Amino acid sequence: MTYGKVIAVANQKGGVGKTTTSVNLSAGLSLRKKKVLLIDFDPQGDSAKALGYIEANRMKQTISNAMLEMIVSDECDLRSCIITTAEGFDLIPANEKLANIEATLSNVDQKETVLKDVLETVKGDYDFIIIDCKPSLGMLTINALNSADSVIIPSQAEFLSANGTYQLLNRIQKIKEDKNPNLKVEGILVTMVDERTSLGKAIKGQIQNQYGKVFKVFSHSIPRRVTIAESSAAGKSVMSYAPKCDGAKAYQELAREVDLCAKREINKHKDTEPR
Ligand code: ADP
Ligand code: MG
Repeated sequence: MTYGKVIAVANQKGGVGKTTTSVNLSAGLSLRKKKVLLIDFDPQGDSAKALGYIEANRMKQTISNAMLEMIVSDECDLRSCIITTAEGFDLIPANEKLANIEATLSNVDQKETVLKDVLETVKGDYDFIIIDCKPSLGMLTINALNSADSVIIPSQAEFLSANGTYQLLNRIQKIKEDKNPNLKVEGILVTMVDERTSLGKAIKGQIQNQYGKVFKVFSHSIPRRVTIAESSAAGKSVMSYAPKCDGAKAYQELAREVDLCAKREINKHKDTEPR
């Protein structure tokens, strides 16, 4: 049996580490022998690029095809868009056509749940489906949040980003009240931490104080490391680019926490099921 857990990686601010986290969490879970599908859900196509598919705009089969099919005919063949990456997990790429889909959605009846319907068709094949969101709280991100069981919020260790976290948490609350009551915050992930500066430390502490009582702040934050940026430029996860560096270890810790949490949820569910 697979977990079938969908996790959106979201923050409306750009450059906070969403794509880096999506790619490396997928790789980390894959190293733990989990079946993983990464959905690139940003018209920039950065997840695909970070995995070496640099000509994203030339790709014919992307998440946009599946969404358009779902809009037009209420069914879709998502499997035909899957790329098996060298990292061992599956990827559905995106490119600028996804921006057209976002515009089209405004005229669609079930505009907020098209991605959810698309993902239902393959959920049973995977332990984890990770969605790399675009930096906005627009209709694509709303689709991601309506499809997800939980959200990981990468938050760069600086004040502005901590402020954006607050707006996102508000949006998540609205989604819970509306179409996705079971949506959870998997955790806030502090990224690009510069441990050498007291500001870096202070901000991690601030995020912990501000949100830690209500939400989980992952105990391992992600350090700022050149190897992490280099690995994306080389089209690889940091685990395969520099497996021994502490950036790789930090993402492996994140994968471990996420995996154990999913396992606990499944066991809890089994215990409460009627026999
Ligand atoms: P987002 O998807 O939120 O826009 P990215 O994951 O693309 O953010 O990260 C923005 C930039 O920062 C990229 O160039 C990426 O390589 C770099 N980066 C991300 N995480 C780290 C890190 N921990 N250390 C150093 N550079 C990082
Ligand atoms: Mg990104």
